[in-house]
Parts: sequence; structure tokens; C-alpha cells
Amino acid sequence: NRMADELQREMDKLEKLDRIRTDFVANVSHELKTPLTAIRGYIETLEDGAVEDVATAYKFLGVISNHTGRLSNILDDLLSLAEVENVENVFEVSSFNVKTMVDDVGWQLTSAISEKQQSLDVNYNGSSFEMQGDKNKIERVLINLVDNAVKYTPDKGRIEIALFEQKESILITVKDNGIGIPPEHISRIFERFYRVDKSRSRELGGTGLGLSIVKHSVFLHKGHIDIESELGKGTKISIVLPRTFQK
Ligand code: ADP
Repeated sequence: NRMADELQREMDKLEKLDRIRTDFVANVSHELKTPLTAIRGYIETLEDGAVEDVATAYKFLGVISNHTGRLSNILDDLLSLAEVENVENVFEVSSFNVKTMVDDVGWQLTSAISEKQQSLDVNYNGSSFEMQGDKNKIERVLINLVDNAVKYTPDKGRIEIALFEQKESILITVKDNGIGIPPEHISRIFERFYRVDKSRSRELGGTGLGLSIVKHSVFLHKGHIDIESELGKGTKISIVLPRTFQK
């Protein structure tokens, strides 16, 4: 009986994995199809004569260019996700300073932040922010979190990054006073392609993959993620990363 139970459990598990994979392929196909259909449509319209009207032609080329940008964002994120989801994956472990990294990320996002007239505050609590890990992956985590804070916070909003030195780990929090996440969605936003508001996310250049990449990268480093959010008030994401890397 026990063996039959175990076999059944194993089969249920495989079935579930299979379903996840099928859903994923369907999602990817759907996400790629939307921009491709638009690109094809605009090209056909241009071929049918719209190209003769220079102003219209430029307008359509702009739209085509937006959709190609979108396709390339999706592909970039899919590649990043494949990299962190693959457990066989070769790690590029080095020692680095998280404080320096946070400063760099702040600079990288300065233009996005000032475009929305938002403010960025960075607080360091402690003096030692050295850790071991895959530098590129941790930087991607920070970029994705701050980028979300910028995207989902209205103009003139406030974004705060804080670092806390802990004995064995470093705690990083990214906080915004933006739109927040409805409670019923919170548990799902780390899923691939899950978005509270699809069209809003698309408009902002999102792919729905950013937080899945964050989750997997943090787990690869044996860290933890926590999220607090209140609709209309803001969101705070906390990440704990162990200082020493262990496979
Ligand atoms: P996206 O590319 O859509 O931003 P993510 O995986 O990064 O994808 O995030 C998933 C969803 O979680 C977003 O579409 C958004 O609905 C919600 N979200 C993420 N970060 C925030 C935030 N700081 N404030 C409000 N909502 C957020």
C-alpha cells in the first residue's frame, strides 16, 4: 500500500511539473505573439501604401520599433530566467561590496527616477557590506526591484533603499510609496508572467518575469525574500543574503 501511495504521489508530481511546463510554453508563445502580430500588421499596412505618406510611415516605424524593443526585453528576461532556474548552472562567485553595488544601481536608474521627479534615498546601517556571490545576478536583483519601485510609483514619489549589516548576512530593503499590491495578488507576483495589471505593466515596458528572476537568484544564494504591500500606500521588499556563498 505504501509503495502504491508513493508511486501515486510521484506521478502527481510529474503531472504537475508537466502542466507547469505546458503553461509556461503557452505563456511565452502568447507574450511573443502579441508584438509579432502588431509588427506584421504595421509592415503590411506600410506595404499597402502607407509608406507613401512620410509622416504616417515614420509613425508606424516608431510603433514597430516599440514592439521590437518589447520582444527583445522578453527574450532578455527569458534568458536571465533560464540562467537562474537552471540548477546545474555555473556560478561566477566573487567577493563584492553591496554598498558599492547599490550606489551603482542608483546611478544606473538616475534618469528613470528624475524623469518621474521621484526621490531616491539610500541608507546604510553598518560598516561592512562585503559578500560572496554571483555579482551580476545580485545586481540584476537590485535593478529589478528598484526598477519596479520606479515603475509602480507615481510622479514625485519616494523610493528608499536601505542596507543593514547583520552578522552572517546582509539585509536589503527596497521601499516605495507607490500604488501597492492588492492583498489577493501578493502571493502570486513571483510567478512567471504574473502581473496585477497586464496592460499597465506592458505600457511600462514590463515582462512579468522580473520578480521570478529575483526570487530564483535569491534562492540560489540561499537567501530569503519578504514582501509587505498596501494598496495605494506602497510596497516594501526585503531580501536577506548570506555573506558566504555555499552551493
Ligand atoms: P513586470 O515586468 O510586470 O514589472 P515583475 O515580475 O517585476 O513584472 O512584477 C510582477 C508584478 O508585480 C507587476 O506587474 C506588478 O503588478 C507587481 N509589482 C511588482 N513590484 C511592484 C511595486 N513595487 N509596486 C506595486 N506593484 C508591484
